[in-house]
Amino acid sequence: MSTAKTFSKAPYRRRVISEVRPAILSTSATELEVWLSSRAAPAYRRKQVWGWLARGAASFAEMGDVPKPLRSELEREFRVTSLRQVAMSEADRGLTTKTLYELDGGHSVESVVMRYSGRSTLCISSQAGCPIGCPFCATGKFPFGRNLKAHEIIEQALDAVRVLGTEGRRLSHVVFMGMGEPMANYHAVVESVRRLSDPELLGISPRRIVVSTSGLIPRITQLGEEKLAVTLAISLHAARDELRDVLVPINRKYPVADLVAAAQGYADRTSRRVSYEWVLLAGVNDTERDAKELGRLLRGKLAHVNLIPFNPVDDTPYRAPERGAVRRFKELVEAQGLTVTVRDTRGRDADAACGQLHERVMLAGRAQGALLTDRSVVPAS
Ligand code: SAH
Ligand code: SF4
Repeated sequence: MSTAKTFSKAPYRRRVISEVRPAILSTSATELEVWLSSRAAPAYRRKQVWGWLARGAASFAEMGDVPKPLRSELEREFRVTSLRQVAMSEADRGLTTKTLYELDGGHSVESVVMRYSGRSTLCISSQAGCPIGCPFCATGKFPFGRNLKAHEIIEQALDAVRVLGTEGRRLSHVVFMGMGEPMANYHAVVESVRRLSDPELLGISPRRIVVSTSGLIPRITQLGEEKLAVTLAISLHAARDELRDVLVPINRKYPVADLVAAAQGYADRTSRRVSYEWVLLAGVNDTERDAKELGRLLRGKLAHVNLIPFNPVDDTPYRAPERGAVRRFKELVEAQGLTVTVRDTRGRDADAACGQLHERVMLAGRAQGALLTDRSVVPAS
């Protein structure tokens, strides 16, 4: 049973949002400057506002060096963020926190902040739900909702900056490993990466941003042409088509050999080592045969293998492997000449695999007539 502490932030139910003010980051730099000039304000006010957002400001009122009348106008015209926190859970004695946000229109997404010594990583969502439907993934269990807009992706990071700021920490890394398939929401994801790395906004180096994909080959190729140099992670999970067709259904369209070729094309173009993710499912893809197939597939490539012990999801036929099986698999893959790390199970008790807090709140919400009261502990479903 999960030991996560989960709190709802506000009564939660799907509702139609009557809020019409746009979020400030739904405007481009130029659009905001045009708006400012229509209020007889100089263009540099835009940089000031962005600077405050980048430091985690939660309101226009706290933007001290912006004149008060302009702050009031900004407040009347825009929202600082479009995201509303609806639930939080924490694990690892507060080192991992997960937040569920409601989007305009009623869908919800989650993001996870993981704190380490010297760095903090945000796991971010790019879609409400996911159209790929991997059978081991909590996100894939719910019907696909919608693509996030670029500003909704960045707003997750701004909220993380705000929370980390109160703890004297900085957001240093962002991984697109939350809900959704980033390459199926390509333009918004690329736009959000540009803004996350924009020195006028968050200034996070693309090298510290990981885009994880189930393998949409044309988009991987396109990403390689963007001159972004983000780190690419491929969710491989199986090295033979017959098994990958089941675990990652997009494989039926983009088979594994073509996928690895596209990923290596990305590595060649960007000189960035590709990371291959492998969720270890007991008895399914943790056998000696799998390790050998993986070794054969990636031998000699600019690649790194990341093993992720399965984080159990209800109503799936999969089990997490024993610790010994993880070690054995790692050694077998290393013996093929590959570099391998085992991802720590950070936040396991915070429903940390993508989609799990969303799932828990949804199920609890259903059980309670879709209402969670403020700071109530959501019963484990
Ligand atoms: N859709 C993208 C990014 C989000 S998923 C992708 O699939 O790459 C991010 C990572 O979490 C993927 O490698 C995915 O396979 C993994 N994942 C999903 N469900 C998991 C679970 N229950 N336990 C462990 N890892 C999981
Ligand atoms: Fe989508 Fe990734 Fe989950 Fe597969 S693992 S359903 S691609 S979010």
